[in-house]
Amino acid sequence: MNEILKERKGQIVTKGQGNAAIACGKASLAGSVSQRACVFCGSRVVLYPIADALHLIHGPVGCAAYTWDIRGSLSSGPQLHRLSFTTDLKEREVVFGGEPKLYSALISLIDQYKPKAAFVYGTCIVGVIGDDMEAVCRRVSKEKGIDVIPIMSEGFNGTKKDGYKLACDALSKLIGTDTVTEVPEHSINILGDFNLAGELWMLAEYYRRMGVNMVACMTGDGRIDDVRKAHNAKLNVVQCSGSMIYLAKDMKEKYGIPFMKVSYFGIEDMSDALYEVARFFKSEEMMQKARELVKEEISKLLPALQPYRQKLEGKKAAIYVGGAFKAISLVKALRLLGMKTVVVGSQTGNQDDYNLLKDLCDEGTIIVDDSNPNELSEFVKQTGANLFIGGVKERPIAFKLGLGFCDHNHERKEALAGYEGMLNFAKEVHASVCSPVWKFMRKSASPSPALPEGEGERKPHP
Ligand code: SF4
Repeated sequence: MNEILKERKGQIVTKGQGNAAIACGKASLAGSVSQRACVFCGSRVVLYPIADALHLIHGPVGCAAYTWDIRGSLSSGPQLHRLSFTTDLKEREVVFGGEPKLYSALISLIDQYKPKAAFVYGTCIVGVIGDDMEAVCRRVSKEKGIDVIPIMSEGFNGTKKDGYKLACDALSKLIGTDTVTEVPEHSINILGDFNLAGELWMLAEYYRRMGVNMVACMTGDGRIDDVRKAHNAKLNVVQCSGSMIYLAKDMKEKYGIPFMKVSYFGIEDMSDALYEVARFFKSEEMMQKARELVKEEISKLLPALQPYRQKLEGKKAAIYVGGAFKAISLVKALRLLGMKTVVVGSQTGNQDDYNLLKDLCDEGTIIVDDSNPNELSEFVKQTGANLFIGGVKERPIAFKLGLGFCDHNHERKEALAGYEGMLNFAKEVHASVCSPVWKFMRKSASPSPALPEGEGERKPHP
């Protein structure tokens, strides 16, 4: 296949064809037009849902526009996170430095919006001109009496994963700064849920029904004061481990808080996420409540899924998402709908994730790390997938190839986690795969029908 660059071959494996481990965790190959976002975007997407913080992008307006309102993260209170602020660096600052502009932007924004804390993101150009962001943030923090945290997230300085780590480091600076508040005995933090379409509220309610208290969610519906007291929790429950595993490890080291990785997508993983927490607290009462909850939810859900399963049985899906842990849950969720995964990949998966995927998938499934549009299009054509699950960058690939698409990325407005989310997922997959529109699509492989002579020619302007 011509679409695969020779340097990328190690990042693609087909289950059942050889035993080579997939190459992953590498910098994207120049010229391959990776689907990955930059370091800055990685840090911004993790911190963005903290709703009472100021998020200021020190850089050109384009970086801010690129990440404006980038997640469908809902807040039950303040909406400050949804405003996109930038220092809008131009040629003048590139030549003479952007520190004065950063200082005055911070002062006026803090005066106007009175945030609980401020995050300042450095972009590519700031790394190039060498502004001392840390010094400016220190000065403003002292003058205004709030935490102003610099995040040196120059886009070129690594992969999106490095941005995740920088976001975790920023949160780590706040955690442990509330030494007064106490929390109930059975308390957890949820790490790596971003409250897309209100998903966190459903999850917190499941845990509440089991008698588990949530101290902080990092970062969905996030609040600075909750982050400050997060060190009081007994357990960190980590969803989206790709972005938050650094913080979970850091908190284990600093505060001795153990962590477990979970997923809230699909019946199996959602139920395990509840049982595992009950097991951790060694509470039979909590376990019993979890069992009752799961039984109640599943008895409603399974009959509701049946009509969708009947229509989707035997259809094939391609998955390309940010983190591989989500891909694992999606393979299982699709199986529950009778669908087979024929292509699966992620932007930031690690060796363990890909090994799990390999064990889980059927023979012949293509597994790919850090892919690009050409490869993905080719894999879809090769395998005859009927559905593509991905994010905003994968949507045009699916539509150009004439197949159904399901948005499972952070921009989405539909809750897909939990038991209710599984039903929404089935509805969405069904609506897209079985849409009558596909029969009017000309498949890209078929040649365009010839136009009658003279038609389609460019006409001269009158
Ligand atoms: S790569 Fe650099 S310029 Fe582009 S969005 Fe990221 S930080 Fe901004």
